[in-house]
Amino acid sequence: MAPREFAAVVLPRPIDHSLTYRVPASLFSRVAVGMRALVPLGKRVETGYVIGLSDHAEVSPVKSLLDLPDDQPIFSPVILELCRWISEYYCCAWGEALHCAVPPGVHTQTKLRYTLIPEQLGPGRFSERQRKVIAELYKRGALSEGQLAKAIGPVALSNTLRALINRGILHAEPLATSGVSAKTETYVRLVEEKVPPVSELEALQRRAPKQAAVYLDLLHAVPERPASALCEKHQAPMTILRALETRGLVTCFAHEIYRRPDAHAGHASAEKLVLNQEQQSAHNAVTQTLTQQRFQTFLLKGITGSGKTEVYLQAIEHALALGRNAIILVPEISLTPQTVARFQARFQNAIAVLHSGLSAGERYDEWRQAHRGQVRIVVGARSAVFAPLSNVGIIVVDEEHDTSYKQAETPRYHARDVAIMRAKLCNAVCILGSATPSIESSYNTETGKSVRLELRRRATEARLPEVCIVDMRKETAEVGAPILLSRQLEQEMQWRVQAGEQVILLLNRRGYAPFVLCPQCGWVATCRDCQVSLTYHATGAYLNCHYCNARREVPQLCDECHFNPLLFMGAGTQKIEDILQRTFLHSRIERMDADTTSGKGGHAKILRRFAAQEIDILVGTQMIAKGHDFPAVTLVGVIDADIGLAFPDFRAAETTFQLLTQAAGRAGRGDRAGKVVLQTFRPQHYAIAHVVGH
Ligand code: ADP
Ligand code: ZN
Ligand code: ZN
Repeated sequence: MAPREFAAVVLPRPIDHSLTYRVPASLFSRVAVGMRALVPLGKRVETGYVIGLSDHAEVSPVKSLLDLPDDQPIFSPVILELCRWISEYYCCAWGEALHCAVPPGVHTQTKLRYTLIPEQLGPGRFSERQRKVIAELYKRGALSEGQLAKAIGPVALSNTLRALINRGILHAEPLATSGVSAKTETYVRLVEEKVPPVSELEALQRRAPKQAAVYLDLLHAVPERPASALCEKHQAPMTILRALETRGLVTCFAHEIYRRPDAHAGHASAEKLVLNQEQQSAHNAVTQTLTQQRFQTFLLKGITGSGKTEVYLQAIEHALALGRNAIILVPEISLTPQTVARFQARFQNAIAVLHSGLSAGERYDEWRQAHRGQVRIVVGARSAVFAPLSNVGIIVVDEEHDTSYKQAETPRYHARDVAIMRAKLCNAVCILGSATPSIESSYNTETGKSVRLELRRRATEARLPEVCIVDMRKETAEVGAPILLSRQLEQEMQWRVQAGEQVILLLNRRGYAPFVLCPQCGWVATCRDCQVSLTYHATGAYLNCHYCNARREVPQLCDECHFNPLLFMGAGTQKIEDILQRTFLHSRIERMDADTTSGKGGHAKILRRFAAQEIDILVGTQMIAKGHDFPAVTLVGVIDADIGLAFPDFRAAETTFQLLTQAAGRAGRGDRAGKVVLQTFRPQHYAIAHVVGH
């Protein structure tokens, strides 16, 4: 038998080593590496993760493990090792990395529950607070500190409780509760051994016809069913089932069900396509490596619409046929219901979806299905790189250049790099796909760390859109006033809308006006905490800090010199929407930005209506540039193409080029030719000039 006397446990706290605990005999048979464990830490009880077992302890004395809340390890050896690597590479504790590898709903919260040991209650002196605690526990049995505090009054009880524990009067036991629990539904099942003779059934039919009808349905059709559906069918109350249960004819039981997220977020064809030559050679390179069970990273660089997704789909199919499982990472998944729909259409129920747009219950259920091996593919955003799948053979990182793969808080991991590391640990292939690869991934193909595969043509008949640049310096000079919509862009929009085609307009700044200025003294309304200018939001009429979300009322006078009126400078999506409403009187115009898409499924709703052509012009921030495939879009306009170039960020030019190229890729995906109009004050800048040649 493997050693299991002592367990090394790491905690989700910035502690750079593991802690040793004695495994009590009662837990010997269950303890395993990768399990969660309840352990004492100082005065508290914490949930940690068992990372090792041994038969001796380096330190003494050691405290004992309190409990193991699960039957099974929640981490496989691969995830344990992956998180150990994360802790070293990104400088955090191993326990912190493990903690972020499970969705929040799966985490346990531990509380202590106190019970009285009445035999120990002898004569003695007690403080008033101690007496109250004893009385409360005597009346109500086991209570947590919170429950006690609530009953006695809002007081801190920890000292009182500890004193009573030390005197042997109280007993404390840890209680693990999960934030979310499994959902169950009542099922009813026929008791096969108890089927009564015909005469008795006839008697039942006479005395209790409803009961008989329900019973005969179970007897002659499916013998096990959800109770509610059965009752509804016969218009019978649940008490009918209870009555049948009392007769011993049926049993009712709780059946665990999964909360499945909305699978109808979009529709996609399940049809497998015949790969074109470029796709085929990319496919061959990937499947050969898969068959050899070798670790390799590929960079699949393919222009927008070149059919990268089809390459992913068929590579995954190959991996599944080899008995291996798959992970697909997509950026901010809630923005791309179409992508998810394509994978669901091809692989149906073999797929689980993990992202922050799901409710906690849904996430918990999707995660458990992967953990139990009931699905073979996980599609998700950043944290899906930790999906609890075994035997992963392929990991796809779509739009690998996307900044949402980088986590901004501890552990500050980059999911693309973690994906590569996970692939390495399980001899899998990792495909990084993008039309505009990151500099890092590009460079890795030059040093031989990764293999470059390229798709240079669009997969369908659609040609790449023509991109033209409007020099706004000239335009302003010619028009004689600052304008937002150049004559050329407005004209192009008129033509498309009249032809019944759709237009996407990008302005990567939300709100109405990005700052409010006093024309007399130059004062600008700024956030008191962040020192950045406050953005004016016309809907609701307030000023908003886009860093910390602080709000204030719109000032009527200058804060400094009390001058009015103040000027609302610059333009955000609300302002452009406003202008469009007045310019295109007969068009259906919608705005898509963080303000119009809050709430579950906010994005999907707008995208669905756009796909159904219930919207003519969609104006929005960068979220409209990503991955969508709308064949009726023939024009993409960018109001302020150089908006991102001024950011104090060494990636400013790279991200500007990526955003503009992605946005341009939305035009002309159907049979009609597309056009892209970029308005800019810096037409000569390389990040803008190179968008023309895709
Ligand atoms: P990307 O992911 O590179 O932007 P997609 O995978 O979305 O490109 O493909 C763009 C379009 O081309 C989709 O409508 C897809 O169905 C189609 N397509 C992809 N591969 C093929 C193929 N081999 N034959 C025909 N159509 C294809
Ligand atoms: Zn002023
Ligand atoms: Zn602020």
